[in-house]
Amino acid sequence: MHNNEQYVVGVDLGGTKIAAALFNAKGEILNRERMETAHARTAEEVVQRMIDMIRSVSLDHPLSGVGLASPGAVNSKDGIVLHGTNLPEWTNVPLKKWMGEALGVPVQVVNDANAAAWGEYVRGAGKGSEHMVYVTFSTGIGAGIVLDGKLLLGTTSFAGELGHNIIEPGGPACSCGNNGCLEVFASGTAIKDAAVELMQGRTSAIAELAAAQNEAVSAKHVFEAYRQKDAVAAEVVNRAIHYMALGLANAVHTFNPDRIVVGGGVSKAGDSLFPALRAQTEQLVMKPYRGTYEIVPAGLKDDVGLIGAAALFQTV
Ligand SMILES: [Zn+2]
Repeated sequence: MHNNEQYVVGVDLGGTKIAAALFNAKGEILNRERMETAHARTAEEVVQRMIDMIRSVSLDHPLSGVGLASPGAVNSKDGIVLHGTNLPEWTNVPLKKWMGEALGVPVQVVNDANAAAWGEYVRGAGKGSEHMVYVTFSTGIGAGIVLDGKLLLGTTSFAGELGHNIIEPGGPACSCGNNGCLEVFASGTAIKDAAVELMQGRTSAIAELAAAQNEAVSAKHVFEAYRQKDAVAAEVVNRAIHYMALGLANAVHTFNPDRIVVGGGVSKAGDSLFPALRAQTEQLVMKPYRGTYEIVPAGLKDDVGLIGAAALFQTV
């Protein structure tokens, strides 16, 4: 009926929405669904709705697996969401067990940054790489590491939290409880905060661009203003790139990747970001590392979590 092709469902579990898609062996999306979770109160309710959604989205295709990307802390070995950052009710939710039993197919669960990293590695800008570091600069900083073609998880599946590398002891407070983490200097939120602070008492294209678009100031406006040679934006962007390069240089020294894939909203800055980021990272790494890696923008867009979750069951 459906020949011998392998079908997989990928699920991206967000704070307010859940997306699911049916993939064929080539990684093509054959069907997709989305639902809001705002009114589902308990983890059990959300899981039941996800199970229904997976059955519906699969269109009766036989599944070889269901891959899930979840925000927050995930124990991937046992498939347990330990603590869902955007899902406050979620503590120690045994997703793999519940969903595996209900659906009768293998289930794998990874956190969203690892799913995105794996998606880029298998289907995106990491294709052809063997040792890849993926970093997303968005609201926060997420990261995932692939070494020798394998997703690096670590003892408790928390490996690769580059955003919480402490790069300035005694620096500004981070949401994690420490001070001076990379995230407080180089995330999209950090870029926005720095712009808001530096704009006080000065005129800047940043505020004008945000107002013209009827939006609150964000990193996007900072990079737009930077392209217009705005002085405040230049200060903010140069500082952010300095810290991003520090973070990437630490990653080069730690993991010796052949490729660094940069994703997240900030990576959309394109030529306002990448040439300077490459040059500064290259200056910071020790000589033997120079020229051994490339820094490239992410290749997948909004579906990266879905694609990565499904690719947990697909070979490269
Ligand atoms: Zn931190």
